[in-house]
Amino acid sequence: MGVGFRLAELLFRQKLFNEGLKGKANTPLIVSYAVTKACNLRCLHCHVEAKEALANELNLKEAMQVIGEMAELGTKALIFSGGEPLLRKNFVLSLAEYCVDLGIIPAMLTNGLLLNHSVALELKEAGIMAVGLPIDALDPTDHDSLRNMSGSFAKAVNAIKTCKDVDLEVVITTMALKDTVHEIPKRIDLISKLGADQVAVYDLVPVGRGKDVMDKAMSQEQRVNLIRYLQQRQESSEMVFTMSGGQPLYPEIASAMHKANDTKPKDLLLKEFWVHNAVGCHAGILYFSLRPSGDVYPCTFLPVKVGNVREQSLSDIWHNSKVLNELRQRCLLKNACGKCEYRENCGGCRGRAYACTGDYLESDPLCLRDLMQEEGVYPATVQRFGWCVG
Ligand code: SF4
Ligand code: SF4
Repeated sequence: MGVGFRLAELLFRQKLFNEGLKGKANTPLIVSYAVTKACNLRCLHCHVEAKEALANELNLKEAMQVIGEMAELGTKALIFSGGEPLLRKNFVLSLAEYCVDLGIIPAMLTNGLLLNHSVALELKEAGIMAVGLPIDALDPTDHDSLRNMSGSFAKAVNAIKTCKDVDLEVVITTMALKDTVHEIPKRIDLISKLGADQVAVYDLVPVGRGKDVMDKAMSQEQRVNLIRYLQQRQESSEMVFTMSGGQPLYPEIASAMHKANDTKPKDLLLKEFWVHNAVGCHAGILYFSLRPSGDVYPCTFLPVKVGNVREQSLSDIWHNSKVLNELRQRCLLKNACGKCEYRENCGGCRGRAYACTGDYLESDPLCLRDLMQEEGVYPATVQRFGWCVG
């Protein structure tokens, strides 16, 4: 059976139920796999401090073995990231094909520098379902300065057009920062002109090099205004948004606003992958991050090693890690998150709690409880979240 046919079958199942992904409790439904630490950029905010490749990155046989274990555990979608995954292009292509064979939907985040027409075709043929590409500012100079390389904006734009040319699904990733968040409406206009209709807005989490640029993070007022704006925009245009980096309940809040206005978001790929489960922060519950050397973290933004796939089976790590089991027990959360009525459905961003306090069970300092209450999102009504990947 060809890759195209198998992918169509996988997507048909998604569409048929039209309910996003569903996952049994404590299943790693979504995994992000950083295939290398090497990168051809040195972005100021890089949360994995990408630089050179590690000497001990997993080889193809090891990576296939662990993807096989993911399939057995119930993984439905795997996002290749890095570093820059196209620096290991053949590795990613082989793994993408293997994912499709196993019934896992593969996607990829890339900075686009290496993405030309023939690479886009190869990705499509291997079964990569969607490519995440960055547009971090309206002004190319601002994008280039955050990405630390002149010309990187132009290359990202080219990569977007190239993917669209070969009919490869594109999700634009875009950083929302204090000094540039005001331009988001125009930035979305630009994204739309480029032919992309799905946008993952990233909030800054103080992890990796992101720690050094936290003065660029949005204020809470800007964050709330942005969420309100995205929802309105989603009502009036043929686009769909989600938020990554600590705001997994965006789809729930947006859905409450849609309900109030008798509208609904478009049935685009990004929406189909909103997960129908009321856990909020899914780190270690429905998601984990596999690092280049085989280390496992609960989330890319929660860099706490819970095991290594060269030393233990993935199943052993997933079921028996003390940290993962603690993250699954919201009664262990401390202070405001521990006492909160949204504890089971939100849980706060465990990565941000860890980055700010050194304790992954502490409170999330950027709580959206007030906004949820204003919008009529109550603990008993929470149904979905959007995955945070990096
Ligand atoms: S205190 Fe805020 S961040 Fe923590 S669980 Fe409640 S709503 Fe979520
Ligand atoms: S720790 Fe949770 S909320 Fe924070 S980025 Fe990871 S999955 Fe999202």
